[in-house]
Amino acid sequence: MNKIVHTVCPLCGSKDIKPFLSVTDFHASGESFIIAVCSCCGFLFTQGAPAGEEMDEYYKSVTYLPHNDQRRGLIAQLYYMVRRYMLGRKAQMIEKISRLQTGKLIDIGAGTGHFAAAMQQRGWQVVAVEKNESARMIARDKFGLDIRPPESLDECAHQSSYDVVTLWHVMEHLEDLNKAWTQAYDLLTPNGLLVVAVPNAASYDAARLKHYWAAYDVPRHLWHFTPDTIQQMAFKYGFLMTARHPMPFDAFYIAMLSRRNQRYRFPVISGFVIGFSAWLRSLVKREKSSSMVYIFRKKAK
Ligand SMILES: [Zn+2]
Repeated sequence: MNKIVHTVCPLCGSKDIKPFLSVTDFHASGESFIIAVCSCCGFLFTQGAPAGEEMDEYYKSVTYLPHNDQRRGLIAQLYYMVRRYMLGRKAQMIEKISRLQTGKLIDIGAGTGHFAAAMQQRGWQVVAVEKNESARMIARDKFGLDIRPPESLDECAHQSSYDVVTLWHVMEHLEDLNKAWTQAYDLLTPNGLLVVAVPNAASYDAARLKHYWAAYDVPRHLWHFTPDTIQQMAFKYGFLMTARHPMPFDAFYIAMLSRRNQRYRFPVISGFVIGFSAWLRSLVKREKSSSMVYIFRKKAK
């Protein structure tokens, strides 16, 4: 098997990297993976993840919710409920921070297209990009979206015509970080906004649940960002962080999944208790929220 093993830190290039945590893929394979930490910059990344198409096998589970709208069960229903609520919140956030009521937006890693469709319905000109073919078909049938495979980004990246580029829980999956950040930069107008939501490895729930924290989601999550390391990475690629917002509700879903992984008898109840505790703490320390949304602008040249 083709595996991705980093000998230097993918963020700062330091050779001073060491194991941080061993985490099991509870979702698909049952295999264990090491998450490494860079002693120099603190970046956390998965070691030994399958490269390229070999990763596809690890996504084939029917329970991978962002690619599937049909899943039953209480945790899945809660996921869909929170997603519906968050759609409106996300759209309002985009319009507030961009100071635009309509504009050009590209949503990378659109899944079944719910966010892209919500923005389109609000009058935005939207292009969606999604790797998974069946998710693209659902998005096209359900919402009539202009949804394309990732290769199409190579053609439109140099237009620098988008007001907003969004990656909702996508960056942590992308093998080629260099390409992802460079493309985002090239897609945006000089005043454009890059919006990146990722799990927060420095969150209260990550610290509490340790290797059971479901948002490590190895090997599908290759990178485990913190507010500090994503800011460093953005800077490296020509961006400045202008705002960050907590997504504290993710703590509930993540904690429920974590408790299920731990084979708790009542994962929803136990997960709710941890989620509630994480949510309360994130009101005080927003940077400890389970997931974060980061807003970046291009640095002045
Ligand atoms: Zn480093």
